[in-house]
Amino acid sequence: MTTAGDALFTAQQQIDRMDAQYLLARLTGLSRAAMLAHPERQLPADIVITFETQVAARAAGVPVAQIMGCREFYGREFVVNEHVLIPRPETELLIELALALLSGNKWPEQADPPRVLDLGTGCGAIAITLALECPHANVTAIDQSVEALQVARQNATSLGATVALIRSDWYHALNEQKFDLIVSNPPYIAKNDAHLANGDLRFEPHMALTDDSDDGLASIRTIIAGATAHLNNGGWLMFEHGYDQAEKCRALLAQHHFTAIESIQDLAGIPRVTLGQIRPQQQQDVTAAV
Ligand code: GLN
Repeated sequence: MTTAGDALFTAQQQIDRMDAQYLLARLTGLSRAAMLAHPERQLPADIVITFETQVAARAAGVPVAQIMGCREFYGREFVVNEHVLIPRPETELLIELALALLSGNKWPEQADPPRVLDLGTGCGAIAITLALECPHANVTAIDQSVEALQVARQNATSLGATVALIRSDWYHALNEQKFDLIVSNPPYIAKNDAHLANGDLRFEPHMALTDDSDDGLASIRTIIAGATAHLNNGGWLMFEHGYDQAEKCRALLAQHHFTAIESIQDLAGIPRVTLGQIRPQQQQDVTAAV
């Protein structure tokens, strides 16, 4: 018979100690604390075999979230697989900022409910969290990947969120629809960034990480350029970006006549989200010019 202590000891020769604990805790249904407090606990043979398979997968580089099939984001568990980006803790900043806008009184001339658009939703973490945290909002989410939309749909259903999921290459399938808030965690890693070929990123969908542009900003350019036509008067755009992209993102927003442009730091002190508001006057000009 194998004990939890033995299984963890063997696993730790091959993979990170915490990863081993998370995987075994998940398999046994025990908390990590309970498992560590009782290393003498006997493990059923089928759990030992599954754990060994999982440890081998992790040793080969497969992300823990993909092995477990889920990742916690903003206090909820989201199903993930190889077709979606694994939700990152830093993306919770985007949620905080969006919720602050949605709960504040920053919607001049807007009638309820606020309309929110999530571009490139992946597993749906952002859209579903906003829909659940802000039930009066009307949330739409797009993704280009059918496989990702299936995961998002599964998460929306199991978490009880109402989100309109649409397959679209950025704004293309949205026609004339307009929103009060557009949010996105787009691909933003530059084409030649060494991180893409290392660690967990190798197992995540390429199209969710990078748009293969030299500066990693092609998707962000598309998102900013299209936002003007898809935001209501006084609406906001906010998106996540890389550690060194904030200044360029602010300049791009300024070029497109956004106002109240600001970059906000994540918990690691990195400017991680940039936002801006569409000038009501500008919006009218654009509409008139079309
Ligand atoms: N923040 C992620 C990383 O660097 C990338 C996410 C993204 O491209 N949107 O691992």
